[in-house]
Amino acid sequence: MSDEPVAEDVTPLDAEPSERGILFVISSPSGGGKGTLIRRILPRVPRLGYSVSWTTRPPRTGERHGVHYFFVMPEEFIAARERGEFLEWAVVHGHYYGTSRPVVERELACGRDVILEIDVQGAASMRQLPLDSVGVFILPPSYEVLRVRLIARKSESLDDLALRLRNARGEIEHYREFDYVILNDEVERASAQLAAIVYAARAERQRQESLVRRVLTSFPEPTG
Ligand code: 5GP
Repeated sequence: MSDEPVAEDVTPLDAEPSERGILFVISSPSGGGKGTLIRRILPRVPRLGYSVSWTTRPPRTGERHGVHYFFVMPEEFIAARERGEFLEWAVVHGHYYGTSRPVVERELACGRDVILEIDVQGAASMRQLPLDSVGVFILPPSYEVLRVRLIARKSESLDDLALRLRNARGEIEHYREFDYVILNDEVERASAQLAAIVYAARAERQRQESLVRRVLTSFPEPTG
């Protein structure tokens, strides 16, 4: 057997949650592929939860209440907003969308970091909150690729599709407000990059203070 050091699994690093969970705020234009990347990393990265948003947009074929969104009527959304149920909310492509405060709190309370898949306005609101967050912008390779992806998705009416494409450039122009930008030209690579960002953020020194202090207590005090 070799005495060569063996690269350890990432689990030990991961087993030490920072004191408070991290919110990973992921934005992109519609069709940018953030949902696909998130679905790929959720089962692979431990201690990572997802916050299901509320929306007044009608469900698309195959979308399920409580899984993809909580689909509600505008009056219900507004009443929930008045009750302070949203960490942030915005009107996006003509519909209300909001991040549920209890859902995020529940995930954080379970010791998980949380992924929020929200638009650039919501990301700006999140930055105003005193929460530990990391912003990631998912960039489509080109207008043409985005257009083809949106058409292939067959989820929007033609008017809606045109609206989403019109809004895309303005959304991309917000990229400077994010900590990271991932080019989504190849799903495997882009999702590996997203997972790497999660691990790197967790390992940042300022998030490891309590771990370092705990490890230090196992060392004898210096003498003399
Ligand atoms: P879609 O209708 O394609 O599911 O989503 C349209 C846009 O709304 C996307 O950019 C998506 O990220 C954003 N969105 C989804 N949930 C939320 C939310 O809770 N808050 C905000 N601000 N945007 C959201």
